[in-house]
Parts: sequence; structure tokens; C-alpha cells
Amino acid sequence: MNLLHSINDFNEAKQVIVGGVNSPVRAFGSVGGVPRFIHKAKGAYIYDVDDNAYIDYVQSWGPLIFGHCDSDIESSVLQSVQNGLSFGAPTEIETTLAKEIISAYDGIAKVRLVSSGTEATMSAIRLARAYSGRDDLIKFDGCYHGHSDSLLVSAGSGCATFGAPSSPGVPSDLSKHTLVARYNDIDSVRACFEESRTKGSGVGCVIIEPIAGNMGLVPADREFLHALRSLCDEYGAVLIFDEVMSGFRAGLRGGLGYCDVLPDMATFGKVIGGGMPLAAFGGRDEIMNLLSPVGSVYQAGTLSGNPVAVSAGLTALLKLKSDPSIFDALAHKAQILTQGLKDAAQSTGIPLQVCHRGSMFGFFFNDRAVKNFDDAKRSDTAMFAKFHQKMLEKGVYFACSQFESGFICTAMGEEEIRTTIERAQESFTEIANGI
Ligand SMILES: *Cc1c(COP(=O)(O)O)cnc(C)c1O
Repeated sequence: MNLLHSINDFNEAKQVIVGGVNSPVRAFGSVGGVPRFIHKAKGAYIYDVDDNAYIDYVQSWGPLIFGHCDSDIESSVLQSVQNGLSFGAPTEIETTLAKEIISAYDGIAKVRLVSSGTEATMSAIRLARAYSGRDDLIKFDGCYHGHSDSLLVSAGSGCATFGAPSSPGVPSDLSKHTLVARYNDIDSVRACFEESRTKGSGVGCVIIEPIAGNMGLVPADREFLHALRSLCDEYGAVLIFDEVMSGFRAGLRGGLGYCDVLPDMATFGKVIGGGMPLAAFGGRDEIMNLLSPVGSVYQAGTLSGNPVAVSAGLTALLKLKSDPSIFDALAHKAQILTQGLKDAAQSTGIPLQVCHRGSMFGFFFNDRAVKNFDDAKRSDTAMFAKFHQKMLEKGVYFACSQFESGFICTAMGEEEIRTTIERAQESFTEIANGI
């Protein structure tokens, strides 16, 4: 595979952009190899600057549920561009998009649009803290909610402890307000609530991915989410579902469709922007009405609700709503793909755990079921790196980490799925033979 242009581009980028990339995972740090510089994409495929084609299971990390260059999204964007790129004043389509989000997602009375998932979760926890009047929050080990200070916190040494900053530069004075619980382990959550009650300021909110997609794909058990809801009610904490990845991805109702537990607030991103920078947070009326200009909790954005981004996102959501069978078809393809990967691995004696929720899928090189981040970390990441590299060379672009999810788009047909499984079979066989 000729990678000359990507190699040169990467070297040049590194002179002026830190690490050559504008988001760290793109540097391929955990799998090695050359990050592909992309110059175009269409449907299920992306093309690098050396004109190698790949079946793309990253789909911009989730937003592109209709694949690259969907003609409807493309034309709505082009039309919007002709009317102006940004006004810094309200537009009608923002209301339309808000209505579409609210009508799909139970329990959300109002939303606010922002430009990234990071902003959405950061603003949601500020609001939740203001509503509850308490500073401590609980998050789960292995869940990712963007890179704001309060959420860049990982588990400390004990099982249920106040967290430690997961990045230098995050003040420990701040991270001490974040407690880190174990995913799918309700006892660890109760321990956090109790610890905060005795040693801290009390838990004001709990934030969770109802379908965790940022430690690989690890769905929460229904019973766990029901118990979590009860604990939040018992302790008076605001429950936030971070649906930035799973919203309109795992199904029209995101994680709700799998648990029937209603959160007090939810955050969205990725799919709701149709590939443009757009995200949202929403919640019950009495919480959202604390937000400026109605209430006194401050939050703002120069490009929030940008008309071009809203056009792209609205077109995507309207397409999804107009044909509910889309999600079944996506889930069916995800099922075939993951089963095919599992069978191929098994035939070569390589243990593989697979999972899918709607169009999200994941696989772990692990001989045991993965229920939380500790389980996920027991996966064979060296094996993953090998597999990733081999699949790339064979024209299949998976996310470059064991701890990311994959995405099916409507532009993927049986042929792409079949090709992927064949290439995986070849790769597993080579790995098993030490090639
Ligand atoms: C991607 C993601 C975010 C962060 O969104 P950005 O747009 O990258 O800031 C937050 N939460 C979850 C669950 C995500 O998957």
C-alpha cells in the first residue's frame, strides 16, 4: 500500500500542529502505523491522499449515519450556505430542530443548541449543579463526556473514591468534586453517594452514557439503569444521560429505547449535526428554566445554533424520522458484521467478544464478557493493534483503538459487510499463523 503522501503530510503537519492532529486519537498512537490523510469520501468509503480506498467504520466518529456526502444533507447545506453562514440571531430552523429532538426523546421539555458534545455536557452539569445546589458529581470509569475539567477525572485508587485528574492542568480542587463509580455496578454508585454525603458536599448530579461507546461498546444493563434512577431519586440528584454518541444512533430514542428509564437531562451531539459541529443539552422544564436569559445560570456561544449546521442536522433527523425501518436495517447489518467477525475469530482460535446496539458496534479481544472498564482493559490491545493494521492494509478502516466503537451507515451494503468479514478472516488467520 502506497502511503507516501500521508507520510509526508503527517511530517509536515507535525511542524505546525501539535502531534500533527487536531484531536489526539487521530494520530494512531495506540495502534502505530501512519495516520491516513483523507482527501475525499463518498457513501461507505473514504479515500486517502495516496488514493487508497477504505470501507469506513469510523464515519467521523459517529455523526454520519447516512454515510459520506448524503445527497439530501449536502443539498440542504448548500442551500443554507447561500443565505449566509452565520447571523448571531435566532432562526426558525433552530426551533424546528429543537422540536424534533424533544418529540423523539421523552422527558425533555426544552433544549439549548451548542457546537460540541464537550460544551453540551459541561453546560448540563453546571445547570444540574445549580438546580440541586450541590457541587459533587458522579461519573463512571470508562465513560467519556468530552474534555471539560470536571469530567476529565478518572478513578482514584479505591473502588469508590473521589476521582483524580486524568490530565495535568485539571485542578485537584475541582476533580475532588467528581466521584468515579464502576459501570454496571450499583453498589459502587451507592458508595459514592454515601461518601459524598459524609465527606463532601453531596451529589448534585450523575452523568452516564446509557450505552457506553467510549471504552469500546459496553451497554448498561436495564436493571442497573433502573436502580441508578432510584438512587438519584433517593438522594435528590439530577440524572443526566449523555447521548452524544448513542442519541439517534442506537435508535431514534437513543439509549431510552433500551431501558425505559427517564433521565432528568440529556445531551446530544454527533448525529444531530449531520456531520457539522452541533450538539445540544436539554431537560425538564424547571431545570432548563434556570438557564440564562430566563434564569441566572450562564451559558452562551457565538456560533451556537449555526444555521448551516442546523440545516444539516435537521435534514438528518427528518430522514431518520420519516423511515423508522432505517434503524432495523442498520441493526441487522451490525448483527451480521459482528457475528461474522466473531465466527472468523473463533475459527482461528482467537477469542473475541462482540456487541452491537442499533448501528453502533464493538469488539474486544477478550475471552470474557465485558461489563465495565476494568473488564475492557483486560483485552489484548497488542492483538487489536495488529488486527487494525492488517485491516487497514486490506482497505477496511476501523477506529484506531480497542476502546472505541464502530459505526454502520445506511450507505453500507451487504457487499461491504461481506468484504469486511472476508478481510477479517484473512487477518485473523495471518495473526494466528504469526504473520
Ligand atoms: C464524542 C462524545 C462527547 C464529546 O463530544 P465532542 O463533540 O467531541 O466534544 C461527549 N460525550 C460522548 C458520549 C461522546 O461520545
